[in-house]
Amino acid sequence: MVGNMYPRLRIDLAKIRHNAQTLRELARPWGIDIWGVTKVLCGAVQVGEAMMAAGIATLADSRLENLARLPTAERALLRLPDPRQAEAVVRLAHWSLNSELVTLEALSQAALAAGKRHRVLLMVDVGDLREGLWPDEVIPFVRQALHLPGIEIAGLGTNLTCFSGVLPDPTNLGVLVQLAAELKRLSLVECQVISGGNSSSLELLQQGKIPKGINNLRLGEAIILGRETIARRPLPGLFTDAVTLQAVAIEVIEKPTLPTGSIGQDAFGQRPAFTDLGVRRRAILALGRQDVHPEGLLPLEPGVRVLGASSDHLLLDTSDYPEGVKVGQVFSFGLTYGALLAASTSPYVVKQFISHPEREGT
Ligand SMILES: *Cc1c(COP(=O)(O)O)cnc(C)c1O
Repeated sequence: MVGNMYPRLRIDLAKIRHNAQTLRELARPWGIDIWGVTKVLCGAVQVGEAMMAAGIATLADSRLENLARLPTAERALLRLPDPRQAEAVVRLAHWSLNSELVTLEALSQAALAAGKRHRVLLMVDVGDLREGLWPDEVIPFVRQALHLPGIEIAGLGTNLTCFSGVLPDPTNLGVLVQLAAELKRLSLVECQVISGGNSSSLELLQQGKIPKGINNLRLGEAIILGRETIARRPLPGLFTDAVTLQAVAIEVIEKPTLPTGSIGQDAFGQRPAFTDLGVRRRAILALGRQDVHPEGLLPLEPGVRVLGASSDHLLLDTSDYPEGVKVGQVFSFGLTYGALLAASTSPYVVKQFISHPEREGT
């Protein structure tokens, strides 16, 4: 043990709970229920519990090992299963997202063997080109899948603004609603859940433009970081600082902005460029690419600018910071989704869960 206290992710559970509750209340008048997505915080139990305390009944994560950690809520596996893990999927998840018949066959066998009924959210690709059946394949696919015992085709879902950045709109979400209506008309499936996407659908929700019939959203970033994900605008009434990153200054020295000597490549094969801003007060923080995605750090203290980072060192310009900067001083950052993902999956970053901010000790 080396007694590391930093770098540290400070995760305020009361704020996460507040965000989840506010989003539930925003969606409820439209008949929309929310699945709480925990993957960006590695399915932390405390985060799952905070979402459940906000009234969320279904927790969703992309990884089975995270689902195994989560509390006893209803659980959904977001990433399409590997058929060879069917036994674990059926054991750890009540729902999974699917688009392949061979996988459904494996899930069916596993569910039968376990004496369970596993629910399937069938994914439809309405244009973003990540997972999902093409809309015109859905009906024939369902006709085949209906023969499989142990599983239930319990809904349709789509995922947008992920691979191609395609935005949700009334037309592409309308495709889901029409397909669900068609499945009902043909007496094939009564969809319990028609899931209209992730945090990128919140803008449409706020405008009241989510087509009637969509009754579910799967929200991660909006709950954890308080932002929608089209323009990454803060959502009204939500905390954007439920998760922050802290790191420590290990050197504070005034240095020129122009390096001395001839310039080759930096540690990552890039050829850096410099502008002469004279002598600046620079701080090195014990934080680097092994801990976080430095481009996604948003300094919370005034007058602090991120200059760059190598594997283990983050360089800050602190010349405009209003006070003296000392070695050992802790700096705080907000995070983009990518930076949070990196920090939360880094074994070097301490995770501190805070349930009562007013009684925080350290
Ligand atoms: C990650 C994920 C979500 C949640 O996305 P956010 O942008 O964090 O709200 C929803 N659905 C699927 C399939 C996902 O993989």
